[in-house]
Amino acid sequence: MDCVFCDIVKGRAPCHRVAESSLALAFLDIHPLTEGHCLVVPKRHVVFWHDLSGEECTALFGLAHGVAGRLMRAYRPEFVSVYARGRRVPHAHLFVVPAYTGDLYDREFSRLEQLQEGSPELEALRSPRALAAAAARLGGGL
Ligand SMILES: [Zn+2]
Repeated sequence: MDCVFCDIVKGRAPCHRVAESSLALAFLDIHPLTEGHCLVVPKRHVVFWHDLSGEECTALFGLAHGVAGRLMRAYRPEFVSVYARGRRVPHAHLFVVPAYTGDLYDREFSRLEQLQEGSPELEALRSPRALAAAAARLGGGL
């Protein structure tokens, strides 16, 4: 299996390591959205973060938390954003990105938020009835 993040974890591919634990590794993204942008990956190959064990998930987010603290001290951003997607490289990873009002990253997320709040295509999902149905489907409620 060809996986660049597994290669990085095993030291077969270069990276700029930032932090490490027994179950997770943090390194600089080679295509940073802002300076200091890191990726945090589990050491075991798993495609999506929600397929990790509880212990691995705790380690992943724990390392991301530590990296966020370093980023806050080193770059003084307004905050550090975290998100996971995993389509481009099919090995679970968290994007840990220093965030600043008005920069490219912030503008793109603002655009996504406008889409989320204003898209007619999503109107039906915002109705109280739809929200109640979704909460019930997930085992919750008001
Ligand atoms: Zn992998």
